[in-house]
Amino acid sequence: MLGSMETRAFGANGAAVPAFGQGTWRMEADDRAGCVAALQRGLDAGLTHVDTAEMYGSGEVEEIVAEAIEGRRDEVFLVSKVLPNHATRSGVERAAEASLRRLRTDRLDCYLLHWPGAHPLEETIAGFEALRAAGKVRSWGVSNFDVGELDRALGIAGPGRIACNQVLYHLEERGIEHRVAPWCRAHGVALVAYSPFGAGAFPAARSAGGQVLARIAAAHEGATPRQVALRFLVRAEGTFAIPKAARAEHAADNARAFALRLDAAEIDEIDRAFPRGKAPRRLPVV
Ligand code: NAP
Repeated sequence: MLGSMETRAFGANGAAVPAFGQGTWRMEADDRAGCVAALQRGLDAGLTHVDTAEMYGSGEVEEIVAEAIEGRRDEVFLVSKVLPNHATRSGVERAAEASLRRLRTDRLDCYLLHWPGAHPLEETIAGFEALRAAGKVRSWGVSNFDVGELDRALGIAGPGRIACNQVLYHLEERGIEHRVAPWCRAHGVALVAYSPFGAGAFPAARSAGGQVLARIAAAHEGATPRQVALRFLVRAEGTFAIPKAARAEHAADNARAFALRLDAAEIDEIDRAFPRGKAPRRLPVV
């Protein structure tokens, strides 16, 4: 199935990864069998980039992911994240081993620092590189990094090492377009949009912006406003989105964004309906 889906290089030297994937935050609070079914339906439809973290449900969500990907590990681009307070050199390695155990696999496709923390980035990166050398992670990246932190990481790791920066990005929060997205593009770092539906606050159908999305969706047989939103978010090369769905019908619906294409006039219309706004002083986070 992966072969039939639209893929993009994930970072400068990266694997080919579908533009749309699946998030898993807070799945511990959802129906477990329903989540497993949703993730599997998503995989069937090509949403093979699966994003999780040791933080989610304190490890419980990684176990849900393990159940969903059992027997089909090779189809999946599997991403997990280390908590900043674990991100010493040895702590990173310990956390990765624990994630691999819960995920019942021998490798991660990408391993991220969940957000910048107090431990020296040199240590975190040394831990990531040791894991990479051992074949336990294929690549590593960061999350919630602004350009200052990205510059520091690049200075430590050198070019071509940081696979991605996973950041908050949705129609009503476009702050990362000012400096973070250009930085990532310039340095061949994949930009992964988290909370692409606003973490449960998707624009209401009756709002002015919601009506624009509905009108554009109606012009594309069977498309939905959410699919239009997903497509808008990945309009630039090197950009990915990871909507979370605990329901199989939602996962299937999100995967239909693969088939949707927006023209330049539609992109402009969305751009005007959900203005980028001024450059934020601080990186927006969820
Ligand atoms: P999101 O993907 O913006 O929104 C998820 C919500 O949208 C859920 O309530 C889901 O419902 C609903 N939904 C999904 N598809 C739908 C559809 N087709 N129709 C109607 N409703 C639909 O929220 P998110 O979980 O915050 O973000 C996505 C992922 O990004 C997370 O799960 C996580 O993996 C990652 N993330 C990373 C960070 C970070 O710091 N790095 C922070 C936040 C999130 P159901 O669940 O009921 O299907």
